[in-house]
Amino acid sequence: MNGRVLDGRLVAAHWREKVRLAILKTTQNKRPPHLAVLTVGEHPASTIYVRKKKEACQAVGILSSHIALESHTSEIELLQAIQDLNQSEEIDGILLQLPLPPHLQTSSCIQTIDPKKDVDGFHPMNMGKLLLGEKDGFIPCTPLGIQMLLDHYSIDTRGKNVVIVGRSNLVGKPMAALLMQPGKGGDATVTIAHRQSQDLSLHCQRADILIVAVGSAKLIQPHMVKEGAIVIDVGINMQEKAPHSTKTQIVGDVDFLKVAPKCSWITPVPGGIGPMTIAMLLQNTWLAYQQCCP
Ligand code: NAD
Repeated sequence: MNGRVLDGRLVAAHWREKVRLAILKTTQNKRPPHLAVLTVGEHPASTIYVRKKKEACQAVGILSSHIALESHTSEIELLQAIQDLNQSEEIDGILLQLPLPPHLQTSSCIQTIDPKKDVDGFHPMNMGKLLLGEKDGFIPCTPLGIQMLLDHYSIDTRGKNVVIVGRSNLVGKPMAALLMQPGKGGDATVTIAHRQSQDLSLHCQRADILIVAVGSAKLIQPHMVKEGAIVIDVGINMQEKAPHSTKTQIVGDVDFLKVAPKCSWITPVPGGIGPMTIAMLLQNTWLAYQQCCP
């Protein structure tokens, strides 16, 4: 067995093209979709993500505005900025780049975003709709990207044992909710493992599909993976290129070179879930626009 690569770059490019053509077709006499990206303070990783999102928007015809607030912004000021964006008829989607500085409460800021503009899908209304299987909410971009990647490669999740490592609100929990829904892209038997799980290896070994979203470089080693499993690596970790080197590289939570020979399919890092996440942000912004400017 040698894992074939689930090529997130390729599939994301298909999605971007789909969104680009849809926007081109329908916005001839209307304003284009508009995404507002709100950041508070400087966060090195966030700076890169925001730039990538901006470039991706530009490539498909979505306007993007970056509202960069200073790190000492108070919660009242941030909530007001969100309210202003909620009320603006020119803005379809609002993305609050996380993490926020520690003096700000992430949950109350997310709850202030108008659920109809919550293209990240983190508002409790959208999370609730996802859990209830209601189709008219926004689904968080990373889990949706994973579902769309599996779908592109005709990987059936029905009846499969899926083990998700990581229980975050951004990835693990919404991923579990998506996969356990009845119907296409769901119908899986889902286990969530986390920091307190006993014997992580034992859980992982049972997975037909193993999804890892932890943030721990090369946590998943070959002995933890079942022969023929499908492995989805969400992790993004910076690592020295060589011992004592000043150069860094991005690696996932899965030891790709060692694990790939055991699986049927595997995502690389970079080039796997990252591009899919951005493609789903474009798709969600396009959906928000359609609801706002039908
Ligand atoms: P988080 O820190 O919120 O959650 C990490 C989870 O991992 C927690 O639930 C924790 O219980 C669990 N965990 C930690 N150590 C563990 C261990 N040893 N064994 C089992 N579980 C353990 O992180 P997050 O926001 O979910 O992100 C996870 C990773 O995915 C990060 O590297 C992040 O950068 C990356 N990420 C990538 C994308 C993308 O687009 N590719 C999107 C979101 C997050």
